[in-house]
Amino acid sequence: MYLFKTADGLKSHIRHIKSSNQKIGFVPTMGALHEGHLSLIRQSLAVCSHTICSIFVNPTQFNEASDLQKYPRTPAKDIALLHSVGTDMLFMPSESEIYPDQLDTALDIDFGPLESVMEGAFRPGHFAGVAQVVNRLLELTDPDMLFMGQKDFQQALVVQKMIEKLQLEVELVVVPIVRNEDGLALSSRNVRLSEKGRRQALALSQALKLAKALAPEKGTTFAKEEAIALLEKAEGVKLEYFEIADGNQLQPLTDEHSTDFIVACVAAWVEDVRLIDNMILKGGF
Ligand code: AMP
Repeated sequence: MYLFKTADGLKSHIRHIKSSNQKIGFVPTMGALHEGHLSLIRQSLAVCSHTICSIFVNPTQFNEASDLQKYPRTPAKDIALLHSVGTDMLFMPSESEIYPDQLDTALDIDFGPLESVMEGAFRPGHFAGVAQVVNRLLELTDPDMLFMGQKDFQQALVVQKMIEKLQLEVELVVVPIVRNEDGLALSSRNVRLSEKGRRQALALSQALKLAKALAPEKGTTFAKEEAIALLEKAEGVKLEYFEIADGNQLQPLTDEHSTDFIVACVAAWVEDVRLIDNMILKGGF
């Protein structure tokens, strides 16, 4: 596995690969890797001839300084994991490689109503930061395919919209959520939970499962109410939102029969960790 720390080193290697018309797959991450990240890497390895993973904890997408500071960092373990699955290239840049002083990397994209709900509403500026870093990383890696997780559902929609608005020549592939056997969605943030916190966090996937089970017969309004009741009763869980929305725009459902793509999304705090999860109730990417 090649390890690049500078944009110039990475770019010259990619130019070399591109000259022989080979397909590049790219998996951006913030490190503290787990099986969820590895499923993205494996998918890229299966369909592309070269797979690049990046590890960069992007300061511009954190709306709270303490969240950025507490974000888990495990570089040695990450390198070993990526090597073990056969990743071709790892890009681990410093902040000055991604955001050099002389370069204006900020974007001004209007994501419309997609930006004002759920994560957009609770984390102001988050998606502007995500778009900025993903666009910059795409510029440097120049991939044919970009692999992102359904775990960050709204992020995937925002990035798809950015690709369309900037007319980027890359195909976004959204990879299903990897969960523990008990249902907990894998997340880098889970390592900050105590054993008790991990058990309490199961309420998120339980609420999503309940909504999925109830929605077909009882409707999405009832399903949402029951899921919220479960979360409000759950010990140690502080709910931020639970929404059932149309899967294309994440807007509240007016008529659940008018769309063939429905998703339930949740965000909640357990201990001092903010967790998100979602489940597709109908249709898919
Ligand atoms: P992160 O390092 O949290 O920024 O995540 C990097 C990528 O991995 C994003 O596209 C996430 O959606 C994806 N990802 C994170 N957790 C999971 C999971 N449990 N299953 C599948 N993909 C995931």
